[in-house]
Amino acid sequence: MSKNAFSTVNLKPELLTNLDSMGYQSMTEIQTQSLPLIIDGKDVIAQGKTGSGKTAAFGLGLLNKLDVKKFRIQTLILCPTRELADQVATEIRKLARTIHNIKVLTLCGGVPIGRQIDSLYHGAHIIVGTPGRIEDHLNRDTLDFSHLNTFILDEADRMLEMGFQTAIDAVVDKLPKQRQTLLFSATFPDKIESISQRIMQKPEMIKVEASH
Ligand code: ADP
Ligand code: MG
Repeated sequence: MSKNAFSTVNLKPELLTNLDSMGYQSMTEIQTQSLPLIIDGKDVIAQGKTGSGKTAAFGLGLLNKLDVKKFRIQTLILCPTRELADQVATEIRKLARTIHNIKVLTLCGGVPIGRQIDSLYHGAHIIVGTPGRIEDHLNRDTLDFSHLNTFILDEADRMLEMGFQTAIDAVVDKLPKQRQTLLFSATFPDKIESISQRIMQKPEMIKVEASH
């Protein structure tokens, strides 16, 4: 067994079976470094360039912990754009193929909010969205994060470049204090350092130079 085999980390059997059928044979470098810490419940800042496999790193971590029998929002993933949110939701649904009845909902701007409110009424386990639209739902009281235990910022550097800092702060303000926070980014500017100090607890830092 290779030292980077997914079976070296403590993932649920149904996730391992699915990874096998997806053809994911071994972990990428960022997954090897971050997954054990994520599974262990730590707050993690992971820096790695595009294509390094960041989605599966946080996706497997959140799916491993998720209780599908509890039909409440347990995870929030923030992404900079609707396209990226759709990509993340697609990858998570693939990783979750062996977890039956799991509901992943995307909430992004540029889509009529009424339709999203209807979808929320039917419930979800995982929300993937853009900061502005999530803040909008919180202001309308259409989102219940009281059962949330995992918060993920994907492409954090881009979200800050796009001016989402205030929206992110407003969202974080409404999340349970007791939670795991994961931050993924391609670069690590000072702004990330300062936001991580505000919203994370003793984060572990991981930096991967090469993509694999
Ligand atoms: P990033 O977010 O770091 O830019 P992605 O999460 O989009 O990277 O992953 C890039 C590609 O690599 C995707 O097509 C994904 O399906 C694939 N991938 C991720 N992890 C693995 C793995 N362990 N084995 C094989 N392919 C993988
Ligand atoms: Mg990505």
